[in-house]
Amino acid sequence: MYVTAKCISNDVELGRDFMHQQIKILLVEDEPGHRELLRRILCDNRPHVQVATACCKAEFQDAVTSESFDCMILDFHLADCQADHLIEIQNRLSRPAPAIVISGSDEQEVVVQSMRSGGVDFIHKDDAIEGKNLWDRIDIVLDKHRRRNRERRRAIRREKRLVQMANRDHLTGLANRRSLEQLIQGNGRGIFDRRGESSIVMIDIDHFKQINDRYGHDCGDRAIRALADTIRKHTVKTDAAIRYGGEEFLIIQPGKSLESAVRWAEMFRRDIAQISLQYDCSSVQFTASIGVVTDRSESLGCETINRCDEALYLAKRRGRNQVCTAEMVNFDRVASKLGQDSPTKRLDTALDEMRSLLGPTQHNHLTAHSHEVSRIAGRIGKAMQMPPERMNRLHYSGLCHDIGKMYIPERILAKPSRLDDDEQYLMSLHAKDGADITQFLCNDTMTSDFVRHHHDRFDETNGKAGNDVPLGARILCVADALVTMTTGRPYQSARPFESAIKELKSQRGRQFDPAVVDAIVERPTSLQA
Ligand code: GH3
Ligand code: MG
Ligand code: MG
Ligand code: MG
Repeated sequence: MYVTAKCISNDVELGRDFMHQQIKILLVEDEPGHRELLRRILCDNRPHVQVATACCKAEFQDAVTSESFDCMILDFHLADCQADHLIEIQNRLSRPAPAIVISGSDEQEVVVQSMRSGGVDFIHKDDAIEGKNLWDRIDIVLDKHRRRNRERRRAIRREKRLVQMANRDHLTGLANRRSLEQLIQGNGRGIFDRRGESSIVMIDIDHFKQINDRYGHDCGDRAIRALADTIRKHTVKTDAAIRYGGEEFLIIQPGKSLESAVRWAEMFRRDIAQISLQYDCSSVQFTASIGVVTDRSESLGCETINRCDEALYLAKRRGRNQVCTAEMVNFDRVASKLGQDSPTKRLDTALDEMRSLLGPTQHNHLTAHSHEVSRIAGRIGKAMQMPPERMNRLHYSGLCHDIGKMYIPERILAKPSRLDDDEQYLMSLHAKDGADITQFLCNDTMTSDFVRHHHDRFDETNGKAGNDVPLGARILCVADALVTMTTGRPYQSARPFESAIKELKSQRGRQFDPAVVDAIVERPTSLQA
């Protein structure tokens, strides 16, 4: 075992202990008498010096792997090796200490070998044991070593600063595109290493050129900085926020699911629209379009970013100031191929084309469930004596009422337990998304409005100013609930028809329009196929 001993001196002066930096020396000497003499010389009157001793290669290795030293004094000829070999060993360590070699030999070869292997000084053993100049030589070595260390630390800090500057965008202080390339190439492994899913959000200021043209580039720069500040405000340490291009930003959100990324993006979009820059007596406002893509964390890369770019450009094409997802891009591709057929044919073709992308629960919602809702809604409409042209719309809106669920992951639709807040949020978007799709398929605002409002509660909307929900939507709402209750869902088993009617009655005037509930309650047999 190598031995460490703090020098015990009778004349320890407290003040000196503070004045001197602690020095740790490793002394390797196999001759016990020499070792003790040298140890005393090193410690004499120096309470700040700690000397560890070793007498062979194994003890030397033990010492240098368990602690670090400021300096080493190595006897050249040891019983099992030479000092040059020990110097080579410790030079492989991350922070090698300067080594002074001592030897009783005068041979030039010993001196040369010591220096060639990396030793920083050579002292004849007689001189060392007499204590002549030993500490002068150690002080010089330590001084040089400390200076070199300081310079090295400074160089490391300088390099770190330069790397930071090269990876940072000077206008916003966010990371720049160069750093994204490094992240993707694997240098930033940590970011993509998460298990599960991660999301990418791409943001682009709408009509930004007009801000530059109308108010000048200074104002444009301020808008860019304001957006970057909003990003900073809403991101967490593990997110990577990058200025991707002029007025385009990318945020990588490790561990974030689609539903929470979409919710985040919507909140962010609304926040951006609230910004009002005071510039030259004008109040400058702007909006942003946003693309969101979620993927398995380990497969996030250039391809995911390209898909996010496509989602962003879909948001632009659809009128800007909105959030679009990769799922919407999937349907957009299908939609662009639909011909000028009848609305029914267009719906059938769209569902056929989407089939390979839909999970079983999604498919069921969009087909069997929707057919039944459409049929029941038709029966209620008939009982309520709806005029024929509205009946057609009611029938079609029933078929389309849940089509927005093609943007909701199968995992959420098939979840057997209660949805969390983010999942519920994404789910709540399906009525509006479904209305947009329906409008595209049949180009009829009344029909798409039936879909838009099919989840609106009667007591929260009807009768309130500007909030009147069309009768078609109120019928769909009841038909949807009745079908859902009697067929069951992953989170709830099917109820008997009578129990479902009882539930409709209990929500009469609250969730459901009383007139629609009455139409069923009065003639329940009219619903039978
Ligand atoms: P869109 O809604 O389609 O995104 O339209 P846009 O006008 O925002 O997009 P477009 O690509 O036509 O114009 C972007 C402009 O952004 C053009 C470029 O001069 C300007 N720009 C890029 N970088 C900066 C910058 O650092 N500061 C300022 N002030 N303008 C910039
Ligand atoms: Mg833009
Ligand atoms: Mg629905
Ligand atoms: Mg439904």
